[in-house]
Amino acid sequence: MGVELIKTDVAIVGAGGAGLRTAIAIAESNPDLKVALISKVYPMRSHTCAAEGGAAGVIKPDDSLDLHFNDTVGGGDWLSDQDVVEYFVNEAPRELMQLEHWGCPWSRTPDGSVNVRPFGGMKIKRTWFAADKSGFHILHTLFQTSLQFPSIERYDEFYSIDLLTADGRCQGVVAMEMKSGRLFQFQAKAVVLCTGGAGRMFKFSTNGAIKTGDGTAMAYRAGVPAKDMEFVQYHPTGLLSTGILLTEGCRGEGGVLRNKDGYRYLQDYGMGPETPLGQPVLKTMELGPRDRLSQAFWHEQQKGNTIPTPWGDSVQLDMTHLGEKHIDERLPLVRELSILYSGVDPVKEPVPICPVVHYMMGGIHTNIDAETPMPGLYAVGETACASLNGANRLGSNSLTELLVFGKRAAMNAIEFARSQTSSTSESALKEQADQAQAKIRELVGRSGGTESIAGIRKEMSDTLESGAGIYRTEESLKETCAALVDLRKRFAGIELHDKSNVFNTDLFQALELGNLLELAQTVAEGALARKESRGSHQRLDYEARDDENFLKHTLAYYQGDEAPRIDYHDVIITKSKPGVRDYSGGAK
Ligand SMILES: Cc1cc2nc3c(=O)[nH]c(=O)nc-3n(C[C@H](O)[C@H](O)[C@H](O)COP(=O)(O)OP(=O)(O)OC[C@H]3O[C@@H](n4cnc5c(N)ncnc54)[C@H](O)[C@@H]3O)c2cc1C
Repeated sequence: MGVELIKTDVAIVGAGGAGLRTAIAIAESNPDLKVALISKVYPMRSHTCAAEGGAAGVIKPDDSLDLHFNDTVGGGDWLSDQDVVEYFVNEAPRELMQLEHWGCPWSRTPDGSVNVRPFGGMKIKRTWFAADKSGFHILHTLFQTSLQFPSIERYDEFYSIDLLTADGRCQGVVAMEMKSGRLFQFQAKAVVLCTGGAGRMFKFSTNGAIKTGDGTAMAYRAGVPAKDMEFVQYHPTGLLSTGILLTEGCRGEGGVLRNKDGYRYLQDYGMGPETPLGQPVLKTMELGPRDRLSQAFWHEQQKGNTIPTPWGDSVQLDMTHLGEKHIDERLPLVRELSILYSGVDPVKEPVPICPVVHYMMGGIHTNIDAETPMPGLYAVGETACASLNGANRLGSNSLTELLVFGKRAAMNAIEFARSQTSSTSESALKEQADQAQAKIRELVGRSGGTESIAGIRKEMSDTLESGAGIYRTEESLKETCAALVDLRKRFAGIELHDKSNVFNTDLFQALELGNLLELAQTVAEGALARKESRGSHQRLDYEARDDENFLKHTLAYYQGDEAPRIDYHDVIITKSKPGVRDYSGGAK
């Protein structure tokens, strides 16, 4: 059977927070435009659902847009584009209020107003939350709202493989219906990629198994650069042995970190003074930013102050002083997960944790309008790099980012789609769709392969962890870069065991692994070229930040089988000159 054709106005790939917000904004304002919402999982299974802690936006009288701006820019070690940050902080409260109007059950204070909690690197309380299931409630609110709009046509469990481009613009995507193996070309006047992050390239990750960077890789292969990929966020509190996230809300509510001697070691890493138990003190100690906390763990490990376990070294997240009532009200999921997966009840004992890969600051190169350099192609959410998060994202900015830039992408995609007539390049598009089909047929039909998907995936994540983890050196990165070149070659020798058309998960895992391998090279090569330490990118051989040479974004360009070509792009600085990131609370 050939590739079937579906014509639409705007194709959105991804139905997490970013995809749904974009779809709603298009449907609400332009109900005559057809929207195809394509997702490899049922929308509620998107990773947004797993977010626990909350979403940042200025709402309280003691807070201000300037403070949110400064926290975000400083937290990102001045690699954020400041026009983007300014737009974001301005729009954030409106978007969070919009969710309230659509039915999101934000947690409240006793007087009925929206409650906010402290979050790492935010020097004032500004994170809206719905207990510790914020992502679930946000996604549910968006999903149920999207159901009102008949112009949104959902294609659930459709796996998107490649972009269709002609006449210098993006004109659609090729996707496979997973239950049948039928291939479709979605011809569209504009395409918005909302496919989420790529944290699954690492071994120990909070990310759902579906976070394999598919959209970023599709755009990258089509010639759009991947930006700032070397900035990979480790979250300091992953539940040992599982990678399950224990939200920053744990520390926001007053949880503390202790080493093997029960000592609150963060005070030794420029984040002191030690703060009183039970009273979260903003800016310092456990409420420092994620990069700094994860780096402090590494140093404790080097000093022999961590606790060895069969699953690796750990430290302790101690919440015992918070009391059962408070934990059950604010952190019920954390308690459930700790008991279920670690056998530890946080009400009674500290929970063993260690840093875990959590978020990709990098992604598809976009600007403040969510536009990529390719006309007709937009990107939003974790798959994109709008340069909001710079070198280190502050927790709780990401959920809000989906909303603010989902809406903005929608407005721009609408305008672009309206300016286009139907494609004049149908034969070129068909040819590309046929090529995608040939690629799939070759992969499924291949025999005599000697490599396994699981084997290559393990080697990829091992080499990333050892060479491009929390701390990096020239030597470790060179090893990783070389290993990745070799793995990409060997990937050509994989053979699928499942040859069928029906839910061929072997096939999807192979395609996902191919995407991850390509993007892993952008991480390692970007990190090798960046000879400085900034935010989440820490080089033991270049310990200082180097604004003279590296106050710029990395752009990685696809070069087929070769490693990417690395180039740079200016950072937009408007009102905050690069300064010192201070989380000492005034301590020496
Ligand atoms: C455990 C956890 C907790 C978090 N907690 C917070 C928090 O408290 N606050 C905060 O601000 N941020 C948090 N984050 C980060 C934040 O949740 C994510 O960055 C954000 O939800 C990503 O949303 P998204 O819409 O970009 O992507 P996702 O929600 O990941 O959705 C991606 C979509 O793309 C689709 N897709 C992907 N590839 C394909 C393909 N090839 N074909 C078709 N469809 C495809 C998927 O089906 C899915 O619908 C957390 C992240 C994790 C992992």
